[in-house]
Amino acid sequence: MKKIVLASKNSDKVKEMRLALQVLPVEILSLSDFPELPDAVEDGATFEDNALIKARFFAARTGLACLADDSGLEVDVLGGLPGVHSARFAGWHANDATNNQKLLDELGKIGATESNAAYRCALAFVDTDGTEIVTQGKIAGTIKTAAQGTGGFGYDPYFYIDADKTMAQISPADKNQISHRGAALKEMILILRQRIY
Ligand code: IMP
Repeated sequence: MKKIVLASKNSDKVKEMRLALQVLPVEILSLSDFPELPDAVEDGATFEDNALIKARFFAARTGLACLADDSGLEVDVLGGLPGVHSARFAGWHANDATNNQKLLDELGKIGATESNAAYRCALAFVDTDGTEIVTQGKIAGTIKTAAQGTGGFGYDPYFYIDADKTMAQISPADKNQISHRGAALKEMILILRQRIY
């Protein structure tokens, strides 16, 4: 059976990707199966650049097909920040809690309690024969300074998908139905089915 390595060290992302990829007849591995591998340097200017950097890096080192996600939050009143810096918005040792605090601080500085926002995701697949496929997904929503919910990860408790529900208040399966990552995965699965498997 064909093997695909999910080239992400973010276990929350890996869970969401595994759930969606169950429909493909492939064996899914993750970077925890390759603990000796170093991190890729994500210095691209766009989500697509960074997803390709990660997929190429780990495909070269594992000798297997790799699927990488690069994603983040864009907040309109912050000029699109944190964008590609979403994982490290609060600095090199950032985690979800410090990133969310930084988001609240930045909104506080300009006196905003809410803003239009979007999550974006680029997925890059690099196969063993060098084939490269990129898909993208986006979901628009509203960032509000009042958190709700304990599901999801990252900025989800502050990302409102409608007037009173956040991305942290829906199940992983429902999140995949509507999310940026779910949209990019849906398109990727269609292409992988038609072109490769
Ligand atoms: P990456 O691992 O460099 O792609 O960084 C992704 C970062 O964007 C995560 O650490 C989160 O802060 C944020 N992010 C991406 N997707 C989501 C999501 O689905 N929910 C919440 N935050 C997300």
